[in-house]
Amino acid sequence: MQKATRQQTKEQNRNLVLRLFFEHASISRAEIARITHLTRTTVSDIVADLIDEGLVAEVGMGSSTGGKTPILLSLVENSRYFIGLDLAYNKFSGAIINLRSQISNLICLPADGLGGEASLQALFTMLDQLTRTPCKPILGIGVGAPGLVNSREGRVINAVNLGWSDLPLARILEERYGLPVVLLNDCQAAAMGEFIYGKSRPAPNNMIVVRAGHGIGAGIILNGQLFQGDGGAAGEIGHVVAVHEGGLPCRCGNTGCLETVASASAVAQQAQQLGLGSGETTLDLLKAALERGDTDALRLVSRAGRYMGLAIASLVGMLNVEHIVLMGEMTRFGEPWLNAIREAVNGAALKRLTQNACIHSASLSDDAVLLGAAASLASDYSMLFLKRETRPV
Ligand SMILES: [Zn+2]
Repeated sequence: MQKATRQQTKEQNRNLVLRLFFEHASISRAEIARITHLTRTTVSDIVADLIDEGLVAEVGMGSSTGGKTPILLSLVENSRYFIGLDLAYNKFSGAIINLRSQISNLICLPADGLGGEASLQALFTMLDQLTRTPCKPILGIGVGAPGLVNSREGRVINAVNLGWSDLPLARILEERYGLPVVLLNDCQAAAMGEFIYGKSRPAPNNMIVVRAGHGIGAGIILNGQLFQGDGGAAGEIGHVVAVHEGGLPCRCGNTGCLETVASASAVAQQAQQLGLGSGETTLDLLKAALERGDTDALRLVSRAGRYMGLAIASLVGMLNVEHIVLMGEMTRFGEPWLNAIREAVNGAALKRLTQNACIHSASLSDDAVLLGAAASLASDYSMLFLKRETRPV
């Protein structure tokens, strides 16, 4: 028992030190000891191990503050890799991500209307290619998938657009590639991406990331951790009813869901009724109309923002979170859309809760899901340990 405890302390100390290497471009042993309150000897031992494993290297001399000139150390960014996947409804993207979250070998495949088996084959094609790159070793695969996902079981419960229901995706990928797999809902992955790599530094402890694109969903970070709820579907706000009478039918089978009034698809449909083109160009034409000062365009975008804001007000009222970050196709409408959201939030929740609310667009764009899925693999640093069998038992 005692031995296990000592081992645990060792791992905790190591994680403390590793975290500092992730947070700093470079750092000295003395600085690590100062921040972590570990002894100089403990720090030196841990750093020696990290150098042995190739995770950390000495990179030069720091500036002296009177005593000995300190040696600076840095994370070796290409010593380990992750694979990040974003399985969007119409496009799969996958990439190799190094320890400094730099993306390489980005692959995109069209995935519109493929059907269940073909969607899986497309995913294999992408992963076969990514696992064959010279970027080694790969520590694991992080997947952001649309729809309902149970992360604990690694299961896609229901992703209508991909034709998947009750699919044990994590197990399938683990067996095929022999790598650990983390599966997250795409909005939750995006929230992790924004939380870990976004521009708000230091990252706020609590944050809600709302994706308003083809669908709508939120990822909720509470106390620095992703909050997934009892069934893993926390943040599924897109199918909460927003229009109680006379709402439009939704793809989920219900009527009047938030998605039917505030998603990019809903807005595109309404814009088409205004005669603004068809298909993929509609949202661009709407944006151009908005910039020209067209009142119909402004009314349409503001209405979508208002509904979005009411949904966000409920989240703010429930959780008292002040940092709200918006992502997805709707963010193209910029301030007019954001202002409609802010006004609706201010009008629909207690002033005490909303007066400090900071509602803005995300700093990450399309990469958020990829990065977040990969980051959730690395977030407890256990992936960066030596393989079990090579460590003292
Ligand atoms: Zn719905």
